This record gives sequence, structure tokens and C-alpha cells, in this order.
Amino acid sequence: MVEKAYNSTRVVVHADHIRNNIEVLAGKTGAGVLKMAVVKADAYGHGAVNVSQITEDLVDWYGVASVEEAMELRDARISKPILVFGVPGVHNASIYERYNLTAVVSDLRQLGILHPGTRYHLEFDTGMGRLGLLPEQVAEVRDAVSKADHLQVEGIMSHFATADEPESGKVLEQLELFRSVRAQFPEHFLTHMANSGGICYYPASHFDMVRHGISMYGYSPGTTAEKELKPALSWEATVVQCRALKKGQSVSYGARWAAPDDGFLITVPVGYADGIPRLLSGRFNVMLNAKPVQQTGTVTMDYIMLYSGVPAGIGNSTVLLLDTESAHAGVWAKTLGTIPYEIVCGISPRIKRIVVNGDS
Ligand SMILES: *Cc1c(COP(=O)(O)O)cnc(C)c1O
Repeated sequence: MVEKAYNSTRVVVHADHIRNNIEVLAGKTGAGVLKMAVVKADAYGHGAVNVSQITEDLVDWYGVASVEEAMELRDARISKPILVFGVPGVHNASIYERYNLTAVVSDLRQLGILHPGTRYHLEFDTGMGRLGLLPEQVAEVRDAVSKADHLQVEGIMSHFATADEPESGKVLEQLELFRSVRAQFPEHFLTHMANSGGICYYPASHFDMVRHGISMYGYSPGTTAEKELKPALSWEATVVQCRALKKGQSVSYGARWAAPDDGFLITVPVGYADGIPRLLSGRFNVMLNAKPVQQTGTVTMDYIMLYSGVPAGIGNSTVLLLDTESAHAGVWAKTLGTIPYEIVCGISPRIKRIVVNGDS
């Protein structure tokens, strides 16, 4: 895919913020707990290879959704253990061995699919309602695990449904169920359950390892703001056109917005194909040369428009769509009634990601 030119738009990934966030989270878990950086979905839009390189000296494991995502990391010479959350199948079983990946077994049939020597963790569904072995299957699971002695079982895990809510009764139920399952397997199994919500709100869920995704990228897992976390991503674009707009002239598809006064129409080369949801049309501000300006008219596939009382220079004006301070992805998410995860994952791969460290 051809990337949009460096100077028309770029996503800036702040390495120091990601490192700060890992330290903040480590402060919550304490020193003895292992850390898994969850870098699925191209590290929530930040670039999986970028984030893995930024974090390799700080974390113990990586977590990805698919073997393809894991292969990308291995090809980039990431050597830490990688846990593949997705379901192993006949078509990809050989890759775990070849790329030195750890499988998640969520159904006993998978034990017959994985190749000899493959390492795996058992996943139990304690209430998430998605993937996993059932707690009432424990005896059967233990039996199958001991029979599958061509494989290496190494860990046991589960996933929360509601850990983004502090004081969730469901979290406590899941925890209790997981503990009772856990107790029926040998002590040395690496045990892990906590996502970002678990890390922030449920110390009892930390076990041997935590799996941080959204919080590592700087967003609070729930509606309670975690003030020490710093959003790691900003998104910039340059102005490609600026021309006079007369009072009453309409802007964009549907002609739903018209200039309240004489002013300037400013066109910026990013649209819904780049990850600005069309439902945000007219509902967000950007910073244009460090001043807030409301986006106007319908968001189009490749462009958004701004209206301003003063002109902006073409090619040398900076439009900041998202920043790492108060105008971060969580603001768009709130306006849309969704979560920051969906906003950052939605930023198109056609936009170049640039890593910076500190003020550089
Ligand atoms: C995505 C995912 C995580 C990370 O969740 P966050 O809420 O982003 O911290 C942890 N564990 C599993 C199994 C996941 O799929």
C-alpha cells in the first residue's frame, strides 16, 4: 500500500509516553509481576514493530491476535516470547513451531492439531462469553493435557468481561471461578488474567503476569481517568488548499453546512478512509497553527474541511487532529459513544507512523 506522503499527514508515536505508561502500570502491579505488552491490531494502530522495539527492554512477553501478527514481530527480530490469543487451526499449526510462538488452547480439539513440541497456555472462559474451555470441563482438560505429552503446557489464563468498571461484581465472580480452576493445575503454570482494567482496578487479578493493551497506549480502560497515563499518539496533517468562502456558501457532501459569514475554506487531506469517523462530521475541533478550529461539513473519504476567519498557508500550516494532551482519541470516542480502542485501531495503515522520543 502506498503511504500518504510524509508531509500531507502523519501519525506520531511518542516512545517516551509508552515507556512512561509501562512504568506507571508496573507501579500498580509491583515488581514481581511479569508484563505482557498487547500489540495486536498493529499495536492498536501505533505500529506493532514500532511498539515492540520501543518496549523490548521493559516487558517480558508480547500478545497478538494471530500468527500473522506474530510472524511480523519475529521477522523484525523481536525475540521475547509471543502468545497468540487466536485459535490455532490445521492451516497454521506448523507456524507456532517454526516461529517459536506460544499457542492459546481454547478447545481440546486444538491439542490434536498443534505440532509436537509446541508450547501452549490453557484458556478458560470464566464469564467473558467468547473463547475458552469451560470450568466444568476441568477433569477432562487435565486428562487431555496429560495425554498430549508431545506438547508443552506452560500457562493458564482467562479474560475479563467487565474489568473496565471498578467494583464490578462480575469481575469478582470471574476471579473466584478462575482461582478454583487454577487450583486444579500444577503450581508452576504461568497464571494470567488481568487486562488494563484488571491492572488498574483489581489488584487481586494480577497473578504471575498482566496483559496491558489500551493503558500502555495511554488511555484509561474505563471512564475513571488514570491521570498518570499519557496518550502515546498524535496525528498531524498539512493544509492543501485555502480559499475565500462567501457567507452562505455550502461546504461538502449534502451541503449540510454553510458559512455563517465571509471567511476562508481550509481543506485538509484526511478523511474517513484515514480513520476520521464520518459520524464525527461537524462534531470535533482541530488545532490549526495552535488555535482551535471547528471541523465543518461532512467528513469525506479523503478530506475534511475547516472554516476560519483568517487564511492558513498551504503546505506550511499544521493541523493537529489528535494530540497527547486533552484532544486525544478518547475525546472522539466520547462524542461518538464508543471507546478509544476503536478510534486508534481505526487509523488507516496508509498513514505513515513516525516514532519520536521526548521533544524530538
Ligand atoms: C486485547 C486483550 C488484552 C488487552 O486488553 P486491554 O483492555 O487493551 O488492556 C488482554 N488480553 C486479551 C486476551 C486480549 O484479547
